[in-house]
Amino acid sequence: MKNVISVRDLEDMVRKGQDVRSLPADAILTPSARDFLHDLEGNGAMTGPAVTDTSQPPAKALNSKRPRAELEKFFSSPYCLGLKEQLCDIGRRLWQRAYVDGNGGNIAIRVGDDIVLCTPTLVSKGFMKPDDMCLVDFEGNQLCGVKKRTSEILMHLQIMKRQPKAVATCHCHPPYSTGFAVAGLVPPTCMIPEYEVFASVAVAPYRTPGTPEMGQLVADLVDKHNTILMANHGVVSWSHNNIEDAYFKMEILEAYCRTVLVTAQLGKPPQTMTPAQLQDLLKIKESLGIPDPRHGLKECELCDNDEWRPGVMCAVPAKTSLDAGFDSEAEKAVQAITDQILARLK
Ligand SMILES: [Zn+2]
Repeated sequence: MKNVISVRDLEDMVRKGQDVRSLPADAILTPSARDFLHDLEGNGAMTGPAVTDTSQPPAKALNSKRPRAELEKFFSSPYCLGLKEQLCDIGRRLWQRAYVDGNGGNIAIRVGDDIVLCTPTLVSKGFMKPDDMCLVDFEGNQLCGVKKRTSEILMHLQIMKRQPKAVATCHCHPPYSTGFAVAGLVPPTCMIPEYEVFASVAVAPYRTPGTPEMGQLVADLVDKHNTILMANHGVVSWSHNNIEDAYFKMEILEAYCRTVLVTAQLGKPPQTMTPAQLQDLLKIKESLGIPDPRHGLKECELCDNDEWRPGVMCAVPAKTSLDAGFDSEAEKAVQAITDQILARLK
């Protein structure tokens, strides 16, 4: 026999603080009981413990050992749909800014103890749909999703395993940053505040994309760096906040690399921050929970940097000569030719 619920039953439930939404699915409501429920909904007076709100993350983090049906339910929940839409949105922004090419680039969001939502393989990041997304475990095994997960997921997973703060990762091939990666160079520092505060950049040596070796070399750097140039390949970033923050690192790095290259061509040594000014920025960085190998260094050690510096005259001299990056022999040759031309014009 089916349960018939009257308005009095519902009033009783409300009085006892029970959740009127937790009625059995096959319960039959009298017309007045239905009106009563409708009124409750209308004035927002529903009380009692809520039925599981699937637009929020699960109260207890899921893991890959949960029953497949539970993982599938989570994967198709409004909460997961929101994250899938974010992945599509970030993919579109990467493509529009020409940070990805062909089906390159991949993005991942950690959604449990050892489960990760990620982009599929062989799809342009500019045109993904929420249904394209995949759920994988920390070993890269696919748990849910119709399309096959990205082949580069191992690197994202190795970052998340090594850096527990990493809740989202973003990999792409922005041309100016990738130029530095191809040259194997960390961009020079002390020029633009955003870069100093939000990015901590290092270069990982080249390995075949998608191999565990590649992921390992990147993971070795994520303790102190959140933006890794992958030699002869591209860039990967991680965030302790969310996927948009991981994407922001790409915009900040790419704009910085472009600016550095423009600056290097102006024929005038760039002006750089003083160590005290840099120290101020690093304090902000530390307060934001962003790692940097320079945290805790003394001011005089901050610019101790023998990387390529395109005419950068740092307030604290680097170990190597200050004009590293300018070929003094070439400069002499240009001067000699200029002198000859001027002599002929006389
Ligand atoms: Zn790639």
